[in-house]
Amino acid sequence: MAEKLQTRCVIAGGGPAGMMAGYLLARAGVPVAVLEKHADFNRDFRGDTIHPSTLELMYELGLLDEFLQLPHQELRELRAVVNGEVVPTADFTKLPTRCKFIAFMPQWDFLNFLSSQAKRFPTFQLFMKAEVADLLMENSRVVGVRAKTANGELEVRADLVIGADGRHSTLHARAGLEQREFGVPIDVLWMRISKKQGDPKQTLGFFQHGKLAVLLDRDDYWQCGFVIPKGGFAEIKERGLTRFQSDLVSFADFLRDRVAELDDWSKIKLLTVQVNRLRDWCCEGLLCIGDSAHAMSPAGGVGINLAIQDAVATANLLAEKLQSGPVGVEDLRQVQARREWPTRLIQGMQIFIHRRVVTGRDSNEKKASLPFVVRLLKWFPVLRQLPARFIGLGPRPEHIRSPTAV
Ligand SMILES: Cc1cc2nc3c(=O)[nH]c(=O)nc-3n(C[C@H](O)[C@H](O)[C@H](O)COP(=O)(O)OP(=O)(O)OC[C@H]3O[C@@H](n4cnc5c(N)ncnc54)[C@H](O)[C@@H]3O)c2cc1C
Repeated sequence: MAEKLQTRCVIAGGGPAGMMAGYLLARAGVPVAVLEKHADFNRDFRGDTIHPSTLELMYELGLLDEFLQLPHQELRELRAVVNGEVVPTADFTKLPTRCKFIAFMPQWDFLNFLSSQAKRFPTFQLFMKAEVADLLMENSRVVGVRAKTANGELEVRADLVIGADGRHSTLHARAGLEQREFGVPIDVLWMRISKKQGDPKQTLGFFQHGKLAVLLDRDDYWQCGFVIPKGGFAEIKERGLTRFQSDLVSFADFLRDRVAELDDWSKIKLLTVQVNRLRDWCCEGLLCIGDSAHAMSPAGGVGINLAIQDAVATANLLAEKLQSGPVGVEDLRQVQARREWPTRLIQGMQIFIHRRVVTGRDSNEKKASLPFVVRLLKWFPVLRQLPARFIGLGPRPEHIRSPTAV
């Protein structure tokens, strides 16, 4: 026998989209249950970036000071190492926000923080190790979910189901929502390398003749992302670890004395990159947000921010109605109408970056050392505010408008 639960809103997935939506709805007094399939938030392949727009939301929620007590690094200027030359590319210090920086914080700290804040609200419930396996349907309307938990099956009935279960969403697949896939020519290899005294002080992006590696400063180690052509991992493995290690060193020479730490392929994880978008983000009883509605590539490091913006728009548009009862599909469509064009714009930019910058197409080693756009950023500092706005705030930044019940 399945355990049964009735609530107003059930959210599949405790990532940035799901946890923020859960927090905001519970804050508005809406009974909400978040179901997360993992036992904790400690997974490695999560982005680490908390953008100025998200920090602004934390301020609007009165959580900023407490949030910034958590260990983090503050990045006020983005620098790229392009064909060996260091170029400042984005300047966050002029943004019209309280925090004029990107905070680098392990995503598990961010999610633990949000969940502990959400648990203060009596209408919030979080189920860990609860994997949503199917939708409950009645008269062509989604009326809940069926999940597998450590204690057996759990059936949650709700007026609204939110799919925030990421890029491999079970929910949109079960609902048969049509998805448009935009070919992505890259994948990412993901690995840790130790840090040493004397290493550069901040997160770095290395562009070299159309190839890209990123080093994220995780305080006591570097999280390294190495962009490869899609499907190219088998060939890289065939060429051998020594060759791969020297490829890394060609980007960041200071790693020379420790690339040998990568002495087994099991230490190098392949992350497949996707960019796609649902045609309809909703149907009767179900709304998809975040990567479940539109999988984002790591390019620009904006996927978390966009997922959070979706959650805020969802609460702004639906919380008040959900306080008193169900919402119709027309209400759900308003969320898509609000968030679709910022998503299209950002995905369009990501697709452009994949094609032009990081696929190795621009691999002529004799080419002028700095591409023209990068030269402009180098010569005219004021231009660095444009990428800062696009990355740091994104198009159509949301603000907290949803009610608070306490
Ligand atoms: C290699 C790589 C690096 C990236 N780096 C960055 C970065 O630095 N900065 C950035 O902003 N973005 C980055 N992104 C994009 C970013 O990870 C996503 O856009 C963002 O995490 C989307 O948030 P989300 O909440 O929609 O989904 P997710 O973060 O994917 O969260 C979904 C959650 O749902 C859970 N779940 C899945 N299925 C079920 C189920 N059936 N039942 C219950 N729970 C389920 C998952 O365990 C997960 O916790 C990166 C992407 C990739 C591929």
